[in-house]
This record gives sequence, C-alpha cells and structure tokens, in this order.
Amino acid sequence: MYDFHIHSIYSNDCKYELDEMIKSARIRKLKIVYCCDHFDVHSEPHKDLTFDADEYWKEIKRINKKYDDIEVLAGIEMNIDLNSIVRVDNVVDLQEFDLIILSFHRINNIFLNEIDYNEINIDKNIYREYYYQILEVIKKYKNYDVLGHLDYIDRFGPDIKFAYYKDIIAEILKILIKEGKSLEVSTSGFSHRVARQYPKKEILTLYKKLGGTNIIIGSDAHYPEHVGFNCKNIINYLKKLGFENISVYRKRGMQKIRI
Ligand SMILES: [Zn+2]
Ligand SMILES: [Zn+2]
Repeated sequence: MYDFHIHSIYSNDCKYELDEMIKSARIRKLKIVYCCDHFDVHSEPHKDLTFDADEYWKEIKRINKKYDDIEVLAGIEMNIDLNSIVRVDNVVDLQEFDLIILSFHRINNIFLNEIDYNEINIDKNIYREYYYQILEVIKKYKNYDVLGHLDYIDRFGPDIKFAYYKDIIAEILKILIKEGKSLEVSTSGFSHRVARQYPKKEILTLYKKLGGTNIIIGSDAHYPEHVGFNCKNIINYLKKLGFENISVYRKRGMQKIRI
C-alpha cells in the first residue's frame, strides 16, 4: 500500500518528526510514502512558509538508510499564487524533489479556514472565485506533477451546487489531462465534515469522462495515526469508478502502478 502525502516537522502545522510518521507507516505495512511538507511561496516574500531543503533531503536519506522495508520519497506540497509564480525558481530547486503537489489553501491570500463565510454575500459564488484562481495559476505555471485535494474548500465553505462551478472545474481538469499531470485523491476528508475523499465523486467521474487517468492517493496525515488512513478503501473505490493505475514519481518522472 502507498501514501503519497504525509507531513512531518518540516511543516508549520505538524509537530511530529519524520521518523515517528514513518514508524506508523511501517506498522501499517506501507511500502511507498511521500513526505510532502508545506512549501508556500507567497506574493510577499516575508510571508513565505518554507524549510531548508538540504536538511530535508538529509533527513529523508537517513530514514531510508534506517529502514529497508519502506521507501520514503521527497515531495513538497507547494502553495503559490499568480503573483508569486515569478519567484518560485529563485526560492527552491524543484528538480531535486521526487514529487511536487500543487495545492491551494487560500482565496486572495486568506486561508480557507479564516474566511467568514457568513459574511459573504449569498449571491457571490465563492467557489467560482476559488477555482478561477486555481485555473489562472495552472494556465501559467507548469512545474508541478499533481494537483492536490481539488475541492478542499468544501471542508469550510457553504453548500453550493456542483453545477454552479462545474464549468471551471472542467477547464482545470482539461489542463491537467492535456499536460499529463495527476489528480490527487485525498482521504483526509473522511475525518472532516464532508466525510468523503477530496475531490468528490462528481469531480472524479468528470475527470474520467474527460479522459483523465492519472491519479495519486494520499492521507495528508499530520499525525502518525493518520498515515495510510483509508488508502486501501479508496483504491477499491477508484477501481469501481474505472481507474486502473496510480502514478508513482521518482525524481519527477512518472511511472504507473496497476491497482
Ligand atoms: Zn493541503
Ligand atoms: Zn498536506
């Protein structure tokens, strides 16, 4: 079994050493795990949330030496915006990593969990704003492998019908498919109020219908006990939806594993 998205102490919101997370992965008999710590390149440089990549690789190397029954790969979960795209290459050498997940946790630089959704005018479809921002970034920015937890806004936002923003989602998915990127299926939503994976079934079936085949799965674990959470179940679910492979990345190159 695999988990393509766990965090460690290199993330500002995770307090566990990588070793503790990997011990948990070994107990759960996972074979491949990607450490994907947060790496936010903000439009204002002093607001970047980054870490020392050299130290990170050293730690991942050390862990791989220590255990021979698990492969730990070096990823990052990168959050950028339209204005910070120009700075990314100066901040980090992305070619050194195995996997780059591009995720969006903000709208107009405000974290999704800090937005007061009650204050938002009922006519204003904030979901369109969120997805439009993602679309604009991926139209311009190409140096990533996977789009992370696509409908993560559902964790916090109001109940808005999929039909009201489906067109923008379709545009996003078409770009991923055309450019050979993968879509992350995150099991973290099973422990949130949505009680399902991100993205929801409507998005996964739309992706399939448009010709999308590239998938990764991840728990987004910030605690050792969440590593590998529901990964087995989600593979069975994806098979039922007609997906046949997951993508595995090493040094940014993709291979497929049959599920
Ligand atoms: Zn995330
Ligand atoms: Zn994450």
